[in-house]
Amino acid sequence: MSEQGDEELERDEEAWTPGGSPLDRAAFNADGLLPAVIQQWNTGELLMLGWMDREAMRRTLTEGRVTFWSRSRQEYWRKGDTSGHVQYVRSAALDCDADTLLVQVEQVGAACHTGTRTCFDGDPLEVVQGFPPAD
Ligand SMILES: [Zn+2]
Repeated sequence: MSEQGDEELERDEEAWTPGGSPLDRAAFNADGLLPAVIQQWNTGELLMLGWMDREAMRRTLTEGRVTFWSRSRQEYWRKGDTSGHVQYVRSAALDCDADTLLVQVEQVGAACHTGTRTCFDGDPLEVVQGFPPAD
């Protein structure tokens, strides 16, 4: 890693200090996992949802790349290592009760393993739409 990269990591750790480490504040479920919503940083596209344990979250917050915990394979899975569809981290936030993580990324290519841009492109459902009452 470059010296510049090390300096950026130090700045990040200082920024965490006031509220404590986000790894300590995150409310992992009974399986030690947290759902992570992945969003394209500049368009707002909702790309996918994956799961992170504490270590996957730590890697995601400190390495500039999104890492998930694969529940099916029981191993860490850094997005893009095999597919080339890398997710570069731009920002992250815990939700109001710290049990869901939002990660905004620069997505390379398709986010979904089926080859679509997002995991939500392929199966739109029919719904009854609601609207606020007219004045
Ligand atoms: Zn998908």
